[in-house]
Amino acid sequence: MSKNITTRAEDYSKWYNELVVKADLAENSGVRGCMVIKPYGYAIWEKMQAELDRMFKETGHQNAYFPLFVPKSMFEAEEKNAEGFAKECAVVTHYRLKNDPEKPGKLIVDPNAKLEEELIVRPTSEAIIWSTYKGWVQSYRDLPLLINQWANVVRWEMRTRLFLRTAEFLWQEGHTAHATRAEAVEESEKMMNVYADFVEGFMAIPVVKGIKTETERFAGAEETYCIEALMQDGKALQAGTSHFLGQNFAKAFDVKFATAEGKQEYVWGTSWGVSTRLMGALVMTHSDDQGLVLPPSLAPIQVVIVPIYRSDEQLVTIKESVNSLVLALRKLNITVKFDDRTTQKPGFKFAEWELKGVPVRIAVGPKDLENGTFEVARRDTLTKTIVSSEGIEDYIQDLLAQIQADLFGKALEYRNTHITKVSNFDEFKEILETKGGFVSAHWDGTAATEEKIKDLTKATIRCVPLDQEKEEGVCVLTGAPSAGRVLFAKAY
Ligand code: AMP
Repeated sequence: MSKNITTRAEDYSKWYNELVVKADLAENSGVRGCMVIKPYGYAIWEKMQAELDRMFKETGHQNAYFPLFVPKSMFEAEEKNAEGFAKECAVVTHYRLKNDPEKPGKLIVDPNAKLEEELIVRPTSEAIIWSTYKGWVQSYRDLPLLINQWANVVRWEMRTRLFLRTAEFLWQEGHTAHATRAEAVEESEKMMNVYADFVEGFMAIPVVKGIKTETERFAGAEETYCIEALMQDGKALQAGTSHFLGQNFAKAFDVKFATAEGKQEYVWGTSWGVSTRLMGALVMTHSDDQGLVLPPSLAPIQVVIVPIYRSDEQLVTIKESVNSLVLALRKLNITVKFDDRTTQKPGFKFAEWELKGVPVRIAVGPKDLENGTFEVARRDTLTKTIVSSEGIEDYIQDLLAQIQADLFGKALEYRNTHITKVSNFDEFKEILETKGGFVSAHWDGTAATEEKIKDLTKATIRCVPLDQEKEEGVCVLTGAPSAGRVLFAKAY
């Protein structure tokens, strides 16, 4: 089964698409640019949601839900935001269909059912949420407002890829309101850090924390913080963003509050989001030519047990010994599946669970029963060990933690060896062409140079990294003074 996947070396992009489909994560749908997330993929997304939701609540946020539609005039209120998203908006103009008098069985839009005001299908929810906040905030006692929503949004993307870029996607969007600028900045940074902790700790994907340039900044924000990850093909992926909105939305929607001294002031805002794109990051960071490799924290099944038997009696004895192992593992909160299907051979099962990225496989046959052992295989390294059944549950628990740590270590090693400092534009181009990854270079700080470099190389500035030493220099393209290095990369 695993033999059917295109290898990464052959065609990385094809490998990714085939893997997402063959591992049962998602598939394209009958709607252009929109995907169906299948149960196995959705189970992973649910695990991400559960952990993120826990982290949001731990940092004081509450969930709420706002409408899918935004009246056009409301959408227009914050001009920069509206302009930035205008090209990707789906718009509802009518609310009824009727039978086509000329073609029986066909429907047409009823011209008498035109909406008085068009509705935008939200590409992001600042407008509808800030128009609501106006009614929620009167005094400093009402602040801060710390709200998150789990939702779907629509951005009419022209070039779509399963999970990485879809026209409709699932995400969470946090929207907070604060009394002071400092508090709002602190919140934006805090949520960038929450995302980084989640993506590194839970998804085992190392990230660079940074700030976007003006060109890449969220429309309507004063500052965009981001976490950037590096995929195995040397391309970068924006894994999450957190925006400091200044008072832009408060001014657009007239959200003011009375300070303790009785003065009227505009509220300060933030918004932050991660999407189902993270599923794509997960696949692209860890998986190999045999299929998915999932970090134990996110694997819907952490351990699969496959019986090897010739006769029905053998299966019965294997089942007895496996039952106690299953119970012992469950006691340790390990998700385990005993694959006792009689319709498939062990070889088929091995390949299937390999493809689906189950971190640990335990095989047990008559010989193991005689010797009091199990055969334990790691999905990440594809190595096997014979382990005594005595205390095996503790061994498995430690092994899962080890796999989680090793996956992060491996990805970190790759990432760290793919951040290359360059000092001139020839080196810049050579590194991009031969090695890929992040190119750390001096830039003169202008949008014009950023644009020119993009035209010449397809690389964009992924971020101005936050954790780096101050170093002045000269721009790789123009030779003009530069205040510090930024990270360029070709990106998804
Ligand atoms: P933004 O609101 O543009 O800052 O995006 C919030 C999050 O959604 C970021 O993590 C983006 O990488 C992600 N995202 C943006 N567009 C898409 C898309 N078309 N499909 C999936 N994820 C997206």
